[in-house]
Amino acid sequence: MTEKLYDLDSSVTEFDCKVIELYNMGDQLAVEVDRTAFFPEGGGQTSDRGMLGETYVENVEIQGCHILHFVENSEENVQKFQKGVAIHGKVDWEKRFSDMQQHSGEHLLSGIVHNRFGYNNVGFHLSESGVTVDFDGSFTEKELCKVEDLVNEAIWKNLAVHVFYPDEAALATLEYRSKKEIDGPLRIVEIPGVDVCACCAPHVKRTGEIGQFRILSAEKHRAGTRLSILCGARALHDSRKKLQENAHVSRLLSCKQGETAQFVQKMKSEKEALAFRLVGLQRAVLEERVKAAAPQRVFTAFLDAEMDTLRFYADALAEKAEAFAAVFSLSQPRQFVIISKTGADVGAVCGSLRSSFGAKGGGRNGVAQGAVDASEAELRAVLQEQ
Ligand SMILES: [Zn+2]
Repeated sequence: MTEKLYDLDSSVTEFDCKVIELYNMGDQLAVEVDRTAFFPEGGGQTSDRGMLGETYVENVEIQGCHILHFVENSEENVQKFQKGVAIHGKVDWEKRFSDMQQHSGEHLLSGIVHNRFGYNNVGFHLSESGVTVDFDGSFTEKELCKVEDLVNEAIWKNLAVHVFYPDEAALATLEYRSKKEIDGPLRIVEIPGVDVCACCAPHVKRTGEIGQFRILSAEKHRAGTRLSILCGARALHDSRKKLQENAHVSRLLSCKQGETAQFVQKMKSEKEALAFRLVGLQRAVLEERVKAAAPQRVFTAFLDAEMDTLRFYADALAEKAEAFAAVFSLSQPRQFVIISKTGADVGAVCGSLRSSFGAKGGGRNGVAQGAVDASEAELRAVLQEQ
């Protein structure tokens, strides 16, 4: 049984311990010591990292009553971690402090949401890739802004965070979140006036240490909502990155930083209007081209255009085709439309593209369409034989 130094004092980062067991776990060795400040993974949070002596601890797990520190399996480490050897341990404080900021911030959030909306926290995930909290209810945008304000206000109050093990009588009268049947004494984390919750993880000693709290996004998740959140330095770095991104966009667009969305909306509308005009002009040119064309058995054309315009051109050319008109886009795989107004079997023409080039598509009643990956010369050669 390992003494959990992290349990009642989250500020312990260095400690002396003794190896009580060493397990060979394949690629890794699992070192069990008599006392540790390393928090093992649990409750949605990844474990601490750090050093045992000169050896890097990659991960820490709790299995039953054993806390296992995973290190690389090497001959050198087998020698270093012999039973009874005294070792100095050091927790990676930067990661631990950041984890505590996120986790204590999550308690503020969950407590405030529970008190205000009655929703439960039904899922929590904290890792280097992100922090998410799931609730069994939904929020409006305005409600989320209010919740974000309230969490930050609780941070500014710099409230003391109490961690304690209530006795059975005290527990019987205590109102707290995250009620689960567990063996042994229940660890309670209380932030006065905001939250009382059963939790096994290390927390900041005062809420001011959380620094700041941001809700990055809210999305529907099962019957409720998944919030992505960040606290402390991670929130600071995230908003700095987004401000830099916004500053870059505003420079590119030559508009004010607070008006980028409005500007992009305007550009988008202008782009749509230009695309519409371009299609109109392209079709006018195509109409002239068809007017000038002499009738022939098969028309094969290649055009830098969308499907609608390919179809428009094929339809116009088909008026002058004795068999059919086929129009292909320029990009590979090429989209194509084949139209006949004289009763030619366009399904069979399409079939020859399938058998020659593995084209996809088909058609009937004088119109076929699909996509094909072939060169202009290859397509012309096959279509002239039809
Ligand atoms: Zn917790």
